[in-house]
Order: sequence, then C-alpha cells, then structure tokens
Amino acid sequence: MDLAAARRLEPTTVKGKVRPLERGHAENIGIEGRYFGNVGDVDGDVMYRTEIHDEPSHSISKQTAPNSVAYTVCSKQRSPARRSHLRQTWHMTSPSTLDWYGCATFRLKTADLTIFLDAYIDRVPSAAGTGLTADDIDECDWIVVGHSHFDHLWGAERIAKNTGATIICSYESVRVMEQAGVPTDQLICVAGGETIELGNGVKVSVYPSQHSCVWSHSQMGQPDQVCIGELGVTWHEQQERMADLMRYLQEETAPEVVAHIVAGAPGHSERGDGGALVFLFETPDGSLFFQDTSGHWSGVLRDIRPDVAILGAAGRGNIDGEPVQGSLAQFVARQADLLRPKKVILGHHDDWLPGFSIPTDTAPIREELGRVVPTTSMIEMGYLESMAIFD
Ligand SMILES: [Zn+2]
Repeated sequence: MDLAAARRLEPTTVKGKVRPLERGHAENIGIEGRYFGNVGDVDGDVMYRTEIHDEPSHSISKQTAPNSVAYTVCSKQRSPARRSHLRQTWHMTSPSTLDWYGCATFRLKTADLTIFLDAYIDRVPSAAGTGLTADDIDECDWIVVGHSHFDHLWGAERIAKNTGATIICSYESVRVMEQAGVPTDQLICVAGGETIELGNGVKVSVYPSQHSCVWSHSQMGQPDQVCIGELGVTWHEQQERMADLMRYLQEETAPEVVAHIVAGAPGHSERGDGGALVFLFETPDGSLFFQDTSGHWSGVLRDIRPDVAILGAAGRGNIDGEPVQGSLAQFVARQADLLRPKKVILGHHDDWLPGFSIPTDTAPIREELGRVVPTTSMIEMGYLESMAIFD
C-alpha cells in the first residue's frame, strides 16, 4: 500500500495488532521519518503493508506500553480536517516470547497477552527449578493445562486466584479446580475440537491426545533406551501397574517427595490424567503447538502444521494407545516428522522430581531429530531464559 492508499484508510485510527516485518526499520521510524511495517485490521485477518518515506509534512510519534509500541503518523498541515484524516496509529507488538518454568510449564507472551501452558511451578527443595512457586505469578490472562496430573495442573488454582486468569482444561481438571475454589466463570471445559478466541488476534485450538505410558515403568529411562513389547496391555493391568508405581513413589522416594505429592493431590481422584489434550496457538507472530506428555493420536498430529512445537520428552511414548516400539528419541522424532515444525522445544525432560524423574541426556533426541527431520532445529531452553520463539 502506498501513501495515497494509506490516506484513504478509514477510520482515522487503525486498530489491531501489528507485527513489524523488519524491526530495524520500525525502530528507525522516529528518526528517519519513515514508516515500514505490517498493519493489521481489528480482527487480525487482513494484513496491510505500508511504507511512508521521508514525508516532511508528517510528524511521527511513538508510544510504548508493556509488550507493545504504537506509532502515530499525523499530517502537519493546518486544515484540521486534513490533519484528522491523516492521523493514523499503528500498534506494533513485541515479538512473542516463551519462558520455561521447568517440567512442562511455559509462559507465552504474545500480542499483549500472558498465557501459561501448564501451571506446575512449585518444586521439592532437591529438584532443579526456577526457585519460584505458583504464588509468585502476578500476571496472567489465560492458562491452558494438558492434563490433570499434579505436575501440570497444581498451581493453576493459585495463578487463577491471584491474577483472574481463565483456565482452559479438561472436564476432570475443571472438577479439580472447582474443588480448589476457582470460580466457574474462570474455567472453560474442553475435550478437543474447540477453538477459543483469547483476544488481540490470538486463538487456541484444542485437540484430543494421549498420555505417555507411565504404567510401563517406575523411573524414567534415558531417551536412547529402546523398549519393545507391552502391546495390548488392558486397562485393568495398567491400573495394577499404576498402583505399583504409586507404592514405589510413596515407599522408595524421599519424604520430601512424598510430602510434595500429597500437597499437590487435593481434589485428585482415581480418574488419573483426566484425558490428555494438546493445543495449537495461532498468534499474529506465528503458530505454536503445545504438548505436555509424550503421547499422541497420529491421525490428529499429521494434519497440524505449527511453526514451533513444544514436545513432551519423558517416559515411554504412547502412539494411538500403544507404547512406542523403540526409544523416546525415536518417538520425539516421529512426532516432529508428523508436525514438520521449524523448531522443536523440549519439555518435561528436566529432573523435576528426583527419585522419579532423571536428568535427561538430550543428545540422542537431537541426533535422531537431525536424522529424521533435518530442517527442524531443536531448542533446549534454560529456566526463565526468555526467548523470541518465532524469529
Ligand atoms: Zn502426567
């Protein structure tokens, strides 16, 4: 769009979320009197590209706000009508960023929104982590939770209470949150198939998923450990093995681990994971897939094409209800092959609960990804190392 076309834009203030095509040019706007960027309409669907070069008849002012910057271009001409006609504001959001809080918990900041992906932040003293608890989170608009286990859901009740955030999660997670005192108007039940507008041109779609085969092991294994067999294990057998796992956790781990599990347990029931979900965020910057446990329905994943994928990398992978015949590294690479993202970000691979989790050697996953999906890069984030994810 040229300047003449920009002048015809109505209303006089262009609202909506904008992302700069070339941030360098956008930053120069006040200095060079030049605008170069992407302008979106209020729904975020139509994107305009506008250039204003060296217009001495215009003044350009810049207003900054948390996570966004707005540029207003005004005519310097005397006629008020003309001046008003040319007054236009472009809101330019900062690039979307992601922070890792350990285990499978991330914070996505995009288009002026703060979104937690899972909410498990508290840790036992011996565990690696951020040193924070869910009580420390004072800014959040939305929380999505992949499943009901405490190492994903516990903390959402406090974040929701302290920030007024709305939680999007399974019916079982909603039941647990309601019991923990979260008002129902801050809870959205999903089962897969829903798309929810989060505001500012951001939406999230929910898909059904699978939990890792946690019943098949006591402690986590390393990613290059090949596991075969255990096909066709019935629900009853799985329940017996889960009971063995719980006995192991209660009797063979440190007292602080037991106390931690008990603290995170209120409201939980034998219903277990409550049905796992995965999420696809679409933002003005790009799309982000979020999975918090190593399982999937292959028919669901193969049609999703995110720019970036967070993949759970822990335990025995679950493919369409059966344990992967191979290693965790092979499982992660197979998922990346279905999704074909530009970047894979690992989750759930740190030593979040010593005695059950292990410090994971991620080299075999990187190697396998390089072999199966060479155009996908793998990213291991450090705790709270904010990263621009779509750059
Ligand atoms: Zn789980």
